[in-house]
Amino acid sequence: MIRQRKLPTAVLAVLIGAVSTARPADYPLKPVPFNKVRMTSDFWRPRLETQRKTLVPFAFERTQPGVEHLKAARDFLAGKKIEDHRAHRFIDSDLYKVMEGAAYLLQLKRDPELEKTIDDLAAVIAGAQHRNGYLYPSHTTGAGSSKHMMGDKPYTFIVHSHELYNVGHMYEAAIAYYRATGKKTLLDVAEKSARHINRVIFEGDPEYNDGKPIRQAPGHQEMELALVKLYRVTGKKLYLDMARKFLEIRGVTYVPDGEGVMAPTYAQQHAPVTKQKEAVGHAVRATYLYSAMADVGTLTGEPTYGKALDDIWGNITDTRMHLTAGLGAVHGIEGFGPKYELPNADAFNETCAAVGNVLFNYRMFLLHKDAKYLDVAEVALLNNVLAAVNLEGNRFFYVNPLDADGKYPFNHGTAGRAPWFGTACCPSNMARLVPQVPGMTYAHDENDLYITFFAESSTQVELNGTPVKVEQKTAYPNDGEISIAVNPEKPTTFRLRLRIPTWTQDRFVPGELYRYADANSSPATLSVNGKRIEARIEKGFASIEREWKSGDRVVLNLPMPVRVTECHPAVEANTHRIAFTRGPFVLCAEGVDNGGATQRFFFGEKPVTADAKTSTRRIEHGSFLQASIKAQAVTKTGKTENLKLVLTPYYAWNNRGVSSMTVWFPTRADMAVFDPHILPKESVFAKITASHTAAEDTLTAIGDNKVDKWSSGNKVTRWSSRGQAGKAQWVVGRFHETKQLRSVGVFFMDRWQGDVRFPKEWSLEVEQNGKWKPFEHYTTDKYDVRANQFNVVHPAAPTRCDAIRIRMTPREKTAVGIIEVQVQFEK
Ligand SMILES: [Zn+2]
Repeated sequence: MIRQRKLPTAVLAVLIGAVSTARPADYPLKPVPFNKVRMTSDFWRPRLETQRKTLVPFAFERTQPGVEHLKAARDFLAGKKIEDHRAHRFIDSDLYKVMEGAAYLLQLKRDPELEKTIDDLAAVIAGAQHRNGYLYPSHTTGAGSSKHMMGDKPYTFIVHSHELYNVGHMYEAAIAYYRATGKKTLLDVAEKSARHINRVIFEGDPEYNDGKPIRQAPGHQEMELALVKLYRVTGKKLYLDMARKFLEIRGVTYVPDGEGVMAPTYAQQHAPVTKQKEAVGHAVRATYLYSAMADVGTLTGEPTYGKALDDIWGNITDTRMHLTAGLGAVHGIEGFGPKYELPNADAFNETCAAVGNVLFNYRMFLLHKDAKYLDVAEVALLNNVLAAVNLEGNRFFYVNPLDADGKYPFNHGTAGRAPWFGTACCPSNMARLVPQVPGMTYAHDENDLYITFFAESSTQVELNGTPVKVEQKTAYPNDGEISIAVNPEKPTTFRLRLRIPTWTQDRFVPGELYRYADANSSPATLSVNGKRIEARIEKGFASIEREWKSGDRVVLNLPMPVRVTECHPAVEANTHRIAFTRGPFVLCAEGVDNGGATQRFFFGEKPVTADAKTSTRRIEHGSFLQASIKAQAVTKTGKTENLKLVLTPYYAWNNRGVSSMTVWFPTRADMAVFDPHILPKESVFAKITASHTAAEDTLTAIGDNKVDKWSSGNKVTRWSSRGQAGKAQWVVGRFHETKQLRSVGVFFMDRWQGDVRFPKEWSLEVEQNGKWKPFEHYTTDKYDVRANQFNVVHPAAPTRCDAIRIRMTPREKTAVGIIEVQVQFEK
């Protein structure tokens, strides 16, 4: 696809700003605020209700430790004695995000009880703030230290302390609450904090850094976005200047010099932001940065930000984005890997990064008025973001892979959604993003009304001075027919612009990574008052300019057949694989619908999607549309059978218990796997048995040739005896034939804060002629339990055997676990 080059809109905005009067530069399009949109959609309305009834109350409960954290600081400042206050870098930020989400709900509907909750919290936060504006409980009470990556004193480790990140989220909560209620307590705390930070970072404050300005950008972006909002709500230019300065000094005044989380790229500090061309590092930090660059570039009229963002956007969509618009494919740095590194089962795709992708792309749309950004935002929202929470509203994904075997504990130690996390950025982001969705449905300028997201809803906007009511009737995103009633107060001429999504054309999502591979397309059609029209498509919008009269009706039809997608050949994980989509939804298969592992399906011939059948699946907390198509699958004996494959929208997976899940299906029989938990042919073991295996773990994991760097066992399948704490255990690995041992290595599992620990002791036995005998290890060996490595023993004398038995004595009250056993044989 040719990327369009044009005069950056920000420049135009400035020129216009110069001739018009005091009106400051801003995005050329104005979104209709979410509280001015009446959302009646059967898809979104239940989500908004769940948000109010379940998610936000549940999230308030779960963020109580953040409240306690702030109370400790408040009490300390009030001169009370504090006991056992534990340091935490960002626990209060999750609370602020939930407060922000709650405040949005208040903007939609008054709720005195919820208002009281926030008033009480506002008082605690105000109490925890120092007289000079500083707010960071861990340093206030002295609980924090460099051990916790906070530095020993305030602002001495900004690269990881989250001191600026946390208050950034507090500003967003304060602004949302002020807009909902007009109450200023929290907004005053926010402004006081911002003025304090301005002094310390940019001017010099005698209380910090020997009075010299610190001039260092936040290690986790967020402050920049919050300052822009603070500027918008107060009109005080100081805050916009601060946001601009934070962007200007990023990668200039301070560059970390290390690896991993101290790598210069990790928090995008490797180069000045306007010189950055590729998406690198931690993906949440990155998308928050890009969103802030769009805001600040627009509001200040500085075009270099927009220019850098065009390159970065192209780089993401061409090389570094999953089909679900998930970003940050790589574990560890939780961020962008090398070009085309887009694994499926091992994908990281943090929920917050998908949220950031929506925020970034929506701003890019407001800046460029181009629908391709909305197309990315929509795919991110309807797939990765919505998958992050179950339909009930109380279990969450942090990590969002595109393949799961039903056991692999990808989501912080579990194979499904979890009720909460120690690091709870993702669920709290869901609390604040979902209520904002109605605000992405309509946008306008003087003469143009943009229908950006389709959803049954209504609103009123003013075009050329005339109030215009607009109403969508549709079952979108489940169905592609959208009927739009346009009712101006008096006949008036303006342009109606309707998004024609990328997924109606030759690919599912913008960029060079994915292409449709079937012939199942049918074009979008448009009619006005029952008469078919051909509209001009400009930047992804069909535009209709006419004199509109009350009662006019436009019908847009976006056919939604099931489509087949192929991936760019450079993406190794998807070689000889295809995926299915329908409308804006990525489809996946789940074990629960398909009688066993989804990894056993394949498509030896081009799948026929034209006869795919769709039906609504209702479950306890909601419903979703499924599709079924004809597929092939390998059987236990390695034969091929024809089966029906049931496909579910990716967002709805894991709502019916933990089972396997696949997005990308092989096109070759030899890539299909009947049961991902069967030992691979290459394993040294023909069979493995154990005294006990925890339901969430996999016995064959210890012979599957998959090993992690760490003993935590969170990244690979493992065996453990959870549920039998304190009880001695054994594992037997039987070889394919009698073998002479060279060595045996055991990689034990250990979760330092968890239920599975290294064994107190362990030993080995060998089976010879049907009898178990103690294994005699080489004199300098011992049965060690070292972390993050194999604990290897060698035989003292030539030892031939048919099987080995590992005996383990656990420590008190814990279970034992093994990630992998490595056996070497003499030739
Ligand atoms: Zn997160």
